[in-house]
Amino acid sequence: MVSKMGFYDWVREKFKFQAFMLMVTGIALGIAYLLRAGSKSSIYRYSSLPKKCVCPKCGYTVVNPNKHCREILCPKCKIPLRRVY
Ligand SMILES: [Zn+2]
Repeated sequence: MVSKMGFYDWVREKFKFQAFMLMVTGIALGIAYLLRAGSKSSIYRYSSLPKKCVCPKCGYTVVNPNKHCREILCPKCKIPLRRVY
């Protein structure tokens, strides 16, 4: 009885570990995909300069910055701004 329970516990732990590894792999792949897609789209999709950029975190905006939003860091959050039309 005890060994049987132990076996089920072992299977359950094994399954949890596999699920966790799958999740981690999935997240890593997702991040890699997003990073690649993001850097590509910013180069090829926007050939013109933006009219307005906004910080996705705090809402800090720059109007007619004369450069691409990705090249501007939010002075508060230190992250690249996002393009707004
Ligand atoms: Zn900010």
